[in-house]
Amino acid sequence: MGPAHVVGAAVVDGTGRDPRKLDISVEKGRITRLGASSAHGERLDAGGLTMTPGLIDAHVHLGLSSPIRTHFSFGMSAAEIAADIFATAGAALDAGFTTVRDTGGIDGGVVTAIARGKVRGPRVLSCGPVQCQIGGHGYYGAEWEPTELWSSHHIPGLCALSMMAGNADELRHNVREAFRRGASFLKLCVTGGVVGAHDRLTDTQFTVEEITVAVQEAAARNTYVTVHAHNNDGIRNAVEAGVRCVEHGTSLDESTAALMAAREVALVPTFAVIEQLLRDTAGAGLAESTRDRVEGARERMTTALAVAKHAGVRVGLGSDLIGPAQERRGEELSLRAALETPMEALVAATRTNAGILGLSGRVGVIAPGAQADLVLWNGDPLEDPELFSDPTNAVLVIQAGQIVKDLR
Ligand SMILES: [Zn+2]
Repeated sequence: MGPAHVVGAAVVDGTGRDPRKLDISVEKGRITRLGASSAHGERLDAGGLTMTPGLIDAHVHLGLSSPIRTHFSFGMSAAEIAADIFATAGAALDAGFTTVRDTGGIDGGVVTAIARGKVRGPRVLSCGPVQCQIGGHGYYGAEWEPTELWSSHHIPGLCALSMMAGNADELRHNVREAFRRGASFLKLCVTGGVVGAHDRLTDTQFTVEEITVAVQEAAARNTYVTVHAHNNDGIRNAVEAGVRCVEHGTSLDESTAALMAAREVALVPTFAVIEQLLRDTAGAGLAESTRDRVEGARERMTTALAVAKHAGVRVGLGSDLIGPAQERRGEELSLRAALETPMEALVAATRTNAGILGLSGRVGVIAPGAQADLVLWNGDPLEDPELFSDPTNAVLVIQAGQIVKDLR
């Protein structure tokens, strides 16, 4: 798309400011001007539509787009796994997400393939494989499978779910390897997880000393560590070690939230995956027993969200969708809108997430100089936040000034 003006939409700019009727001028992939447009360039009539910044999902797993147990028992070819990953990437754009942070499972080749425009997909920031301890969260192999065989599930360039470390030196080796293969930040699992048979939600994983090694390696590359954490002991270990972000935070209590706020550690709660797994555990390719772990997580995470906000923690937004059904990514906003306000959910998915990703002012906001990532919604999602859940309501999606979806 050359120089263009999107005219007539009600603009919600991502900062929390009330909607305004504004014309948006776009040139060379960026927003150049807000307000009355000149005659120069193409005119795109968006009367009756609501415009938001391109949405950001701070917790995705493109590499887990196939039925999980089949994938990790060598039940699928690389071609099928790739097809599923690329379908999920395209579906993210279709749902209005122009930037995602992949928190584990793809290898650098996926990021490159999308960035070069060879397949449709959002801008992707990736940690590559999840870093976990031996048998910790992130390991999906069978109990009897020798530990050293786990990495044979990796498909170089395409997917690498996790790397296991037995000690601090191995972790240092693994994170350097993740960076070599294209990671732009790191993710460690510091507690047990909901999806997994080898650990409990109350377990802590990695020691403070081990987490510190990853923090040092990330700092050396001017980036950061985020952690998968459900319990407070694990979160405290990670915060003490100097991580910048916590994923899930399911059982977050007041004193731990206060510590996070004091150290400026962000939280990314993940509600959509809970709804997804309660609706259809088998559909994600997981054992029915997983369901028991999911039950109760919804209520605890709802409390954690309120506790975090009360303590002044910066709270982003992430869906954590896994398995083949990742079309309804915007459900995370609908769910958050019911717990907060629709505007708060939108700001979390735009400006706040941009800050967590280190992209403040560049994405997640409709302002001069920002990337022209824009979504035009049928109707007003601030009035009816359920609109976010159904991708057919994102009638026009513009990414870096290019129309990537058009249902007009
Ligand atoms: Zn996750």
